[in-house]
Amino acid sequence: MKSRVELGIWARARLHAATSPAQLSADGNAFMVYGTIGSCGFVTGDGDIYLEQDDFDPPGSFVQDSSQAAQIQALVLGSRQFPELTAWLPKRDEASADCETCRGTGWVPVATTSIVCQACRGLGFEPPADTA
Ligand SMILES: [Zn+2]
Repeated sequence: MKSRVELGIWARARLHAATSPAQLSADGNAFMVYGTIGSCGFVTGDGDIYLEQDDFDPPGSFVQDSSQAAQIQALVLGSRQFPELTAWLPKRDEASADCETCRGTGWVPVATTSIVCQACRGLGFEPPADTA
């Protein structure tokens, strides 16, 4: 896994090159690595990673989640557009079993689509213990 400093360098380059406020957090300090209905992932210029999710209380409000699980989800979903982000994901060790919920795919079918697995946050295996 690359360092947080290196991720901050990556994010600062993206922040500098951003062409629209829609690519940034509301305070302009973080680059949006993915955005979908109800959830967006951000990386700050300091290399911090967090999700912003609809809170619905009140409607239109958001809550930030910077837990390890949220960071993994932000990187997994962000890597669909920015494949280099996989360098900051936890590496799978040989002892890791496939996630039972998604059978190792990282995705769970819902109706006619799939959503990121909330058990492994898209890794496809049990994430390492949260050391944050
Ligand atoms: Zn899973």
